[in-house]
Amino acid sequence: MRALIERLVKIKDLIHSAEQTYGRDEGSVKLLAVSKSQPISAIKTLIDAGQYEFGENYVQEALPKMQILSDQRIIWHFIGRIQSNKIPAIATHFSWVHSLDSLKHAEKLAEYRPISAEPLNMCIQVNLEQESQKRGVAASQVFEFAKHLLNYPTLRLRGLMILPAVHENVEDQRRVFHQLFVMYQQLQQQGIPLDTLSMGMSHDFEAAIAEGATIVRIGTAVFGMRE
Ligand SMILES: *Cc1c(COP(=O)(O)O)cnc(C)c1O
Repeated sequence: MRALIERLVKIKDLIHSAEQTYGRDEGSVKLLAVSKSQPISAIKTLIDAGQYEFGENYVQEALPKMQILSDQRIIWHFIGRIQSNKIPAIATHFSWVHSLDSLKHAEKLAEYRPISAEPLNMCIQVNLEQESQKRGVAASQVFEFAKHLLNYPTLRLRGLMILPAVHENVEDQRRVFHQLFVMYQQLQQQGIPLDTLSMGMSHDFEAAIAEGATIVRIGTAVFGMRE
C-alpha cells in the first residue's frame, strides 16, 4: 500500500516536471489511473490519496468495481475496445469514452446515454500508423467523423486519443504524438471545439506531455505490473 502511494506521488511529480520542462501550464495534464486487472483495494488506496479518475478496458470487469465503489466520487473512463453488446452499459455507467472509432457505435452510445445524465464525453481514437493495423479512425476521415459527432445532444466531443505502436526511442514517440497534436490544432481551426488530447502511457507519457497531451493514461507505472 505504501509502495502504491509512493508510485502515485512519483508519477505526479514526473508529470509536473514534464509540464515545466516543456513549457506546459501547471496542472494542464491530468492523470488517468488505468485500473484494469487491478484490485478494488488498490483503487481505494489511490482514492484516499486523492486520485479520482480511473480508466477501465473491460465492461464486465468494471461494473462490479463501480458497484462496490459506488459511494465514492469516481469519474470512470472507458478506454477499451467497444463491443456493440456492451454499449448500453458503457453509455450508462461511464463519464468518458476514449476509444470511439465507429459512427455506428457513436449513434448507439448516443441513443443509450440517459437524457438525465451529463452528456458522455468522447474522444475519437485516431490511427496514424496504418501498418500496425491498430484500431482507430484513419487520419483522412477524422474531420468528417468529428463533425458528425457534434449532432448528438447526449454526446460531448472532447478530443482525440491515440494508442501508438511501441517506440523505444523518444524521437519516434514524439513524432507520432506531434502528428496528433497538429491534427488537433487543425480541427480546432476548422471550428471543431476540442479541449482534450488523450495520449501517453507508462512508457511514453513524458514524450506525450512534450507534444501537448492533456490526459495521460497510466497503468503499470502507478499500480505496478498487472496480473
Ligand atoms: C492498458 C492501457 C493503458 C495503460 O497502459 P500502461 O502501459 O500500463 O500504462 C493506457 N491506455 C490504454 C488504451 C490501455 O489499454
